[in-house]
Amino acid sequence: MQEETFKSYREFNKKFPTKMFKCTNCGTLTTDKYYCVKCGWRADGLLKTWGKGYKYTIEDEGITEEIFTPIELFIFRKESEEK
Ligand SMILES: [Zn+2]
Repeated sequence: MQEETFKSYREFNKKFPTKMFKCTNCGTLTTDKYYCVKCGWRADGLLKTWGKGYKYTIEDEGITEEIFTPIELFIFRKESEEK
């Protein structure tokens, strides 16, 4: 699972401006980083994201969370494959 540390939520939002996330269970795009409307999966539930999601830390807030993978990471992966 990919893990990253940000100074603040401002930096986090700058990296992931679309605020779209991909459900690690069924692959549906969702605007909720924790909850998939289609399959009802919760990234903050008991099983989290099965280790397939994304983990981030916000230093200023002292928060570490596991969420669905932001779609920017898929776009970036695709671009680097094409190069
Ligand atoms: Zn889902």
